[in-house]
Amino acid sequence: MSGLRERYLAEIGIPVWHRRDAAAEPIVEQPPAALPVTQERTEAGGADAVWADLAARVRACTRCGLHKSRTQTVFGVGRRDARLFVIGEAPGADEDRQGEPFVGRAGQLLTAMLRAMGLPRSEVYIANILKCRPPGNRDPQPEESTCCTPYLAEQIALVQPRVLLAVGRISAQWLLQTDTPIGRLRGQVFRYRNIPLVVTYHPAYLLRSPLAKATAWTDLCVVKDLLGGST
Ligand code: SF4
Repeated sequence: MSGLRERYLAEIGIPVWHRRDAAAEPIVEQPPAALPVTQERTEAGGADAVWADLAARVRACTRCGLHKSRTQTVFGVGRRDARLFVIGEAPGADEDRQGEPFVGRAGQLLTAMLRAMGLPRSEVYIANILKCRPPGNRDPQPEESTCCTPYLAEQIALVQPRVLLAVGRISAQWLLQTDTPIGRLRGQVFRYRNIPLVVTYHPAYLLRSPLAKATAWTDLCVVKDLLGGST
């Protein structure tokens, strides 16, 4: 493990323990592999138009009642050919104000967790199940998620990530259509639309329960393995 990664782990509150006999082992930090950019993607002259059309449809959406109370829609952010796609549940107050998912303290922790994996936030794509904030940060209603998920499905189809990371109970249970507790969903690899899906705790929960950070880190290590060790 690199000194840099140790520093990032310490930053998010995960202590790093060393074996006494490990000190003499040489550690070689591998440079991150170049991201594969397919010819199809670089030549996809229409991709910008497809993204713009999708963003415009979300901006104007009135499919469910949440459009009445939103400040703005929160579409999603990140690299359009990201290898990792992070899926949360819904915008909160900060996101509703700023128009970007995972800002505020929970967003900062997510950014730090990604960085500890060797992935700058700008390298991943981040979106929510819902594009509008539920009033008072209540849980999304099933009918709202039903109305909104097609937008997320389109985003996933456009990005074609190698791995999906569902953060939090709501996101994981909706994507997997289960009511199994998150503690029993994490630590495994599922598939959503034939893409490997890993579940972990929501950073807002980790802020309240710092002891769970080490557990969440093991989930992120599963993601790192699925990404092929190039993070
Ligand atoms: S939450 Fe989704 S479906 Fe509902 S109004 Fe907003 S964009 Fe439309």
